[in-house]
Amino acid sequence: MAPRVDSVASGDALPERADVVIVGGGIIGASAALFLAQKGVSVALCEKGHIAGEQSSRNWGWCRKMVRDPRELPLIIESLRLWERMNETVEAETGFRTCGIMYLADSAADLAQLETWLDHAREYQLDTHAIGAAEVAERLPGLTKKWAGALYTPSDGKGEPELAAPAIAAAAQRAGAALVQHCAVRGIETAAGRVAGVVTEKGRIPCDAVVLAGGSWSRLFCGNLGVELPQLKVLGSVMRTERLDGGPEVSASGGRFGYRKRMDGGYTISTLGVRTIDIVPDSFRLAPEYLPAVRIHWRKLRFRFGAKFAEEWRMKRRWSLDEPTPFEAVRTLDPEPDPVILDRARDSIAESFPIFRNARIAETWGGMMDVMPDAIPVISAVDALPGFFIATGFSGHGFGIGPGAGRLVADMVAGGPTIVDPTPFRLSRFTDGSNPRPHPMAS
Ligand SMILES: Cc1cc2nc3c(=O)[nH]c(=O)nc-3n(C[C@H](O)[C@H](O)[C@H](O)COP(=O)(O)OP(=O)(O)OC[C@H]3O[C@@H](n4cnc5c(N)ncnc54)[C@H](O)[C@@H]3O)c2cc1C
Repeated sequence: MAPRVDSVASGDALPERADVVIVGGGIIGASAALFLAQKGVSVALCEKGHIAGEQSSRNWGWCRKMVRDPRELPLIIESLRLWERMNETVEAETGFRTCGIMYLADSAADLAQLETWLDHAREYQLDTHAIGAAEVAERLPGLTKKWAGALYTPSDGKGEPELAAPAIAAAAQRAGAALVQHCAVRGIETAAGRVAGVVTEKGRIPCDAVVLAGGSWSRLFCGNLGVELPQLKVLGSVMRTERLDGGPEVSASGGRFGYRKRMDGGYTISTLGVRTIDIVPDSFRLAPEYLPAVRIHWRKLRFRFGAKFAEEWRMKRRWSLDEPTPFEAVRTLDPEPDPVILDRARDSIAESFPIFRNARIAETWGGMMDVMPDAIPVISAVDALPGFFIATGFSGHGFGIGPGAGRLVADMVAGGPTIVDPTPFRLSRFTDGSNPRPHPMAS
C-alpha cells in the first residue's frame, strides 16, 4: 500500500529548453525547483512517476534539529525557518506545525548518553534540553510506562508528507517551473566537456545544468555517467492509525516506537532507526565504506537475503540514451513493509500508551531510504562534469531538511552566496582522503 499523495496537474510536453533540469520530484527536487524559479531561472522538473510518490510521501513527517549530525545543523536551522513560513510561501497547506519532539530515555545511563548531544545544541543556541520523568508524563498524556527522562526540543516540528512536496511543486509551477510527470530522465548529454542537455523517455531538453534529486535511484543514474556515488538503500516500515482522540500532541520516540500525530487525527507510527537491509550486489561492492556505520548501528539493522539480490543483479547498470532504462520500468518504488518491524513498533507503543492497544491500523507501507556511508547527504557540484549537481543521500532524514537542501542546491546552481556553507556535503569527501564517518549518536 502507499499513502494517498496529493496530485499535481502537469502537462505532457517538454519545454524547448531550460537553464536547469531537475531529475526527481521528491521534496528535494520540488524545493530546488521552487527556489530556482523564484530566482528567475528557467527550470524543468522531470519525475518518472508522480510528485512525492517515493520517500517524500512515505516518511514520518518529523522536521527535527534534535540529535542531528552537527554537520547538518546550520542547514536544518535554515530549513526550519523555511518550513515556518512554508504555507504562506506556497499558498497551500503543507501540514507544517511546531509541535516539539522528544527522545525518551529508558534509564539514567540512556539519558546521560542523549545529554552528550547538548554540547551541539548549546553551540547553535537550540532550545533542546533534558527533562525528567515528571515532565515527560505531563507533556505526553496517556503515557503509563515510566521513563527516566527525555531530550526535548519544543521548537522542532512536523509536516504532512502527503501534502508538502506536492504543494511545493505546485508553487514552483506557478512561479514558472515546467513540471513533467511520468517522464524518466535517461541520462545527460555533454558538449565541450560540460552538460548540454538531458535525454528523457519523451525526448531531449537542452539545458546548461542538471540537478540530480533522484533519491534511492541516484547511484544508478550516476553509475551510467561514470560518476561513483557510494549510496545504498534501506527499507523503512510505517503504519498509520485511524483517528485516535486523547493521545499525545508532541512527537516522540522511545524503546521500539516513534510516532507523529497527523492532521487527520490519526498517528503515523514506526520504530526510530530500526531498518531492514536487503543484501544486494551493492552491499558487497560498498562494504568497506559502510563498515563504520554498521559497527555503530548493527543492533538496529535487520539484514535479509532473498529475491532482492537477484532482482538487482539482473537490473541494467549501463545503457545508451536511446533505450528504455530501469527508471521507466519502476514508476514508483513501492516496497512491502517489514511485518517484524511493524509488530515490534505496535507492541512497544501500546506498552507505553494503552490508548494505542485498540487503535485501528488504517494502512501500512514501506519506503526505500537512500543512505550514505557517513549518513549526511551529498549536495554538491560534480567536478568531473561541469553543470552537473547532486542533491541526494539524505539518509532517512531528508524531509525536514528538504526545503533547506533545495534552497542550498538552487543557490549553488544559480551562483552567488549560498544559504549555508556546502563544504560538508561535497561529493569529493569520499575520494579526497577525508574518510568521512557517521556521527555516533546522530539519527
Ligand atoms: C519510512 C521513512 C521514514 C522517514 N522519516 C523521516 C522523517 O520523519 N523526517 C525526515 O526528515 N525524513 C524522513 N525520511 C527521509 C525522507 O523521506 C527522505 O530523506 C526524503 O524524502 C528524500 O527526498 P528526495 O526528494 O531526495 O527523494 P524521493 O522522495 O525518493 O524522490 C526522488 C524522486 O526521484 C524520482 N526519480 C529517480 N530517478 C529518476 C529519473 N531518472 N528520472 C525521473 N525521476 C526520477 C523518483 O521517482 C522519486 O520520486 C524517512 C524516509 C522513510 C522511507
